[in-house]
Amino acid sequence: MPELPEVEGVVRGLQPVVTGKLIKSVDVSPTIIHSKENGKEAIIKGADVESFQSALPGMAIVRIERRSKYIYFHLKNQDGESFLLVSHLGMSGAWFYVRSLDDIMEEKFKKHSHVTLHFDEDDMLVYADIRRFGELRLLETEADYPPLLLMAPEPFDKGALDHYLNMSLLPRYENKPIKEFIMDGHVVSGCGNIYATEALFNLRIHPARKVKRISKERKIQLFHEIVAVLLDSIENGGSTISDYRSINGGAGTMQHRLQMYSKKKCPICGKPTKQKTIAGRTSTYCGSCQK
Ligand SMILES: [Zn+2]
Repeated sequence: MPELPEVEGVVRGLQPVVTGKLIKSVDVSPTIIHSKENGKEAIIKGADVESFQSALPGMAIVRIERRSKYIYFHLKNQDGESFLLVSHLGMSGAWFYVRSLDDIMEEKFKKHSHVTLHFDEDDMLVYADIRRFGELRLLETEADYPPLLLMAPEPFDKGALDHYLNMSLLPRYENKPIKEFIMDGHVVSGCGNIYATEALFNLRIHPARKVKRISKERKIQLFHEIVAVLLDSIENGGSTISDYRSINGGAGTMQHRLQMYSKKKCPICGKPTKQKTIAGRTSTYCGSCQK
């Protein structure tokens, strides 16, 4: 699943090529039309296909930013009114900026192109999603979809550390495993399984240790380690694990720098790693080095 660094990579790829583009028309795949007709909220959320398709033409993309694991396309219509197209990549979503669908090199993405924004210069932005867990939502403001307002501050922003420390003292979190706590988007924005696994290993903290069993100093160190791991990954173009792709189909290299995520052996002591399910996700850790 793309985490903060991978989404940041997509946003940095999109910014120079689609900022300022005018949306001319929108195509939606027969698969999505069919699922929506059967009452499933497939990819296009909170609107039917026709209203989504008819709302976007005439709008220009004025700015693109990342917020946690979401991509925000800030739009303006011809009357100067602002809208927000919010994209979440789910497990396997990807955006491709191309001239034709045939320019998407990988067959598995081409075959699963679900939403295409056509621009006025015969170029297009294609959303492909193999497993269809991604989301697209057209809003006027963030407040139209309240979960967006509950996200933790950006981890690089002032205030993010205090927010995290305050959350760690709440009764609903103090008995949780530390890994579940740092993967919670209300606590830290954009830290999923890969980077939580790495940050905990780097500090030799056992992923199942309860939040209240960790000192304030260690919690502060852990927050700084999460930030460092996220920044390292951004610098390395994110981790390309299974289906993450940048907008030109490229891949990041952070997966080669990971020390513990999906490893069979601990790089420190050489013992076989252990696995445990925490918050529904497989956690890999070293039973000897992480306490
Ligand atoms: Zn070890």
